[in-house]
Amino acid sequence: MIADRARFRYIKKLQRAAGYRLPDGAFHPANLEAIIGSMNIDSLDIGTRNQILHFYKNFLECNCRDSPLCGCPERKFVIEILELREMGLNHKEIHNRLLDEYGVDLFPGDILSFLENSVHLLEAVCRVADIAGKKELVELSNEHIRQIAR
Ligand SMILES: [Zn+2]
Repeated sequence: MIADRARFRYIKKLQRAAGYRLPDGAFHPANLEAIIGSMNIDSLDIGTRNQILHFYKNFLECNCRDSPLCGCPERKFVIEILELREMGLNHKEIHNRLLDEYGVDLFPGDILSFLENSVHLLEAVCRVADIAGKKELVELSNEHIRQIAR
């Protein structure tokens, strides 16, 4: 999954703010738990603090009982990448955007193959929807394919 490849570029700063060692995988449970719990976010420099608050607000806010280990953060991250692509950003621009906004590092090559896989998945959805006679789903899938693959 693409979220597994996302890394915090400034993990050392986050470790200092948490007071213990953290893995660099941005969506690693230890990091998600630290951000909503033990991390002293106020002790971070302003730039990093804003990135972590942004990460929290966009990916970690949900009402699930087992939040943040409910799968929502990873799902929201996937949606964010697809939305950035549909806004017209290419894989390199998406890489830069994720780094600026969240301090999250994701190789442009990984983003590119994720987008290609998404198109293949949508094409499969489209074929199945077509067989099942679900016209709306066919149109919706085609629309997303067009926006991602352009
Ligand atoms: Zn949730």
